[in-house]
Amino acid sequence: MGEGRLSKRDFIKLSLAGAGCFALENTLSAKALSSLSPDEEKLWKWSKEAIYYIQTPRGIKCKLCPQNCDIELDKVGECKTRLNHNGKLYTIVYGNPCAIHIDPIEKKPLYHFLPQSLAYSIATAGCNLACLNCQNWTISQKSPYETRNYDLMPEKVVEEAKKYKSKSIAYTYSEPIIFYEYVYDTAKIARLQGIKNVFISAGYIHEQPLREIARYLDAANIDLKSLSNETYEMLNAGTLEPVLNTLKILKEEGVWLEITNLVVPSWTDDLDEIKKMCDWLYDNDFNNVPLHFSRFHPEYKLTNLPPTPAETLMNAHEIAREAGLNYVYIGNLPGSKGQDTICPGCKKVVVSRSGYVMKDFQIKSGKCEHCNSTIHGVWE
Ligand code: SF4
Repeated sequence: MGEGRLSKRDFIKLSLAGAGCFALENTLSAKALSSLSPDEEKLWKWSKEAIYYIQTPRGIKCKLCPQNCDIELDKVGECKTRLNHNGKLYTIVYGNPCAIHIDPIEKKPLYHFLPQSLAYSIATAGCNLACLNCQNWTISQKSPYETRNYDLMPEKVVEEAKKYKSKSIAYTYSEPIIFYEYVYDTAKIARLQGIKNVFISAGYIHEQPLREIARYLDAANIDLKSLSNETYEMLNAGTLEPVLNTLKILKEEGVWLEITNLVVPSWTDDLDEIKKMCDWLYDNDFNNVPLHFSRFHPEYKLTNLPPTPAETLMNAHEIAREAGLNYVYIGNLPGSKGQDTICPGCKKVVVSRSGYVMKDFQIKSGKCEHCNSTIHGVWE
């Protein structure tokens, strides 16, 4: 597809029309509509023709993710960020992140990738899933009309990352798949300038766009929410298979991979199900891919549930280790022993962490300093 942009006048008109559609379809309040940014220049900049779509008799079919949205004229897809204008699909979040932070890479979490480095982290509004438990729902479940956005084109992102001495740019917080074109252009520039690109995602994407973006990615943390398709459908509004494919493809493409599993009480805390997931990971050659069990905090539509009990996380950790996974961690549980890296050879602690701070590091040239076993990762 081309690089077409809307005219400034058309875009503003359609942005408002698109938001109008939301008001009907997604019960966007009149108050939110009245708070649309008056900055016309910014609105104009925030559109770019999408890369993956086809025209159909029904309008447009977006080919970026397995939601496969059919999008009628002047409407947006499920992710709230892709607009059909005159039979072409436009991303309306290009260059307008609503969140920018400089984080330690451990916060992503990526424990085996350039430890203690900084990641210049950006997100736009929107998401292609609708997880009931979403921890970032104040941006992920909103349209870009409802968030306060910055004006930061790809060149500027890379410039800022360098200014703040970040070794990587992290596309994170909401869902980088839905700001794909923005990630793609930024990642290409970053690669040329020696900055790494890390993708923190639920992995719900089609193969072709994934392989294309993977060429510019250095590391990824992918959520594996469960090994049950039913859970994916009911908790996340997605399906399991595409996520499993994403894990395999990223590994094939040589992107450093880590996996996060959020343990949600009564949804994904069944220990037999956790064992099934760990067995699948082992059987499919993910035994050297770090697995992070993350503690749930009551958020979004699941505020009635308690935080995950520490004991459940410790049990999950033990199950994963027994299943043969070499690097297993517990996240969001301060003081837990589940933050340290254990050498698969001699079983000694080779990296000890407290929160996002590394306290001790006994790896040299990717090997355990005690027994010389390989500790998988990108350490320097
Ligand atoms: S990226 Fe958005 S518009 Fe495209 S298929 Fe997925 S949810 Fe639908």
